Amino acid sequence: MHKITIAIDGFSSTGKSTVAKRLAKALGYVYVDSGAMYRAVTFYAMQNGLIEKDCFDKEQLIEQLDNIQISFKFNADLGFAEVYLNGQNIEKNIRTLEVSQFVSQVATVSKVREQLVLQQQNFGKHKGVVMDGRDIGTVVFTDAELKLFMTASAEKRAKRRYDELIERGDDVSFEAVLNNVQSRDHIDSTREDSPLTMAEDAIKVDNSNLTLDEQFEFIFKLSEDKIQSLYKKNDSAY
Ligand code: C5P
Repeated sequence: MHKITIAIDGFSSTGKSTVAKRLAKALGYVYVDSGAMYRAVTFYAMQNGLIEKDCFDKEQLIEQLDNIQISFKFNADLGFAEVYLNGQNIEKNIRTLEVSQFVSQVATVSKVREQLVLQQQNFGKHKGVVMDGRDIGTVVFTDAELKLFMTASAEKRAKRRYDELIERGDDVSFEAVLNNVQSRDHIDSTREDSPLTMAEDAIKVDNSNLTLDEQFEFIFKLSEDKIQSLYKKNDSAY
């Protein structure tokens, strides 16, 4: 069976990773959460005093980029790969509102993007990958066979993220989460390097009124159709 590359981009908290994980599992593909990589760099910067209050020492972060090793290890119990920073599992540490509040600033730094994009391209070099993020279809894998762009209203997205954080036991307000979602959307869409934008050949999926199952079924069908059409095309060449 032909393996393809599936790029899923979109605004914050659109449920990209939930659907991407499920899709990767159903297809037997590797799932890569590119946002986790930007979060890992942000967590490193916070731990090393490069981000304090409202100050972000960009130059120091660039100097220290070689000290940052990000890897993923599959956790069979969870059914997906967790992110590691210099050998330490930081899957839980990177999902906090504090990290969310700085990650988009860190993601504007071109040197950070350069390094992470190379690693992401390497993860996908044999195809059979589902990767989600903001620039996967426009920068990382411009040749992805299937590109999706996920969107939903800011309120719906904030509510989903708020419920997740409350379930983890975090002490956050809905307003703080909504503000964060809107401010990340703004920074991500207006930054100079690789802004969040829908690739011309992407399919838009507004999931405001779709259940997780409906969303998954729709995207799974698109993937199967794409794989089959490529399979047939290649077959008829012989
Ligand atoms: O996907 P997630 O919300 O975890 O991403 C966190 C942040 O990382 C985004 O708001 C964005 O600023 C940045 N990001 C990015 N490019 C990607 C993935 C994430 O700039 N491919």
